[in-house]
Amino acid sequence: MITCKQVSHALSKEDYEKLSPLRKCLLKLHVKWCIFCGKFNRQVMDNQDMCRHYKQHEEPSLEKGPTMDKDKKDALKALLAAHSAGVKED
Ligand SMILES: [Zn+2]
Repeated sequence: MITCKQVSHALSKEDYEKLSPLRKCLLKLHVKWCIFCGKFNRQVMDNQDMCRHYKQHEEPSLEKGPTMDKDKKDALKALLAAHSAGVKED
């Protein structure tokens, strides 16, 4: 059986999905049943799950994001350049 300290240490080092299958299973069992660290370490594991999902879906969601016409982009750049030049003079 692994201890609360070992579980917390393993979770703080890296994503628990990267652990060996046996270790991952022991860790999940401990977190499921432990009355001392279960609640906290379950949240840590949920956070790691969320981060993993975010990383997996990050690129496609960025490509689908809003795009701006080249003309509008140039106009905005010119406006920002003019504005920042004006700020420097003050
Ligand atoms: Zn524990």
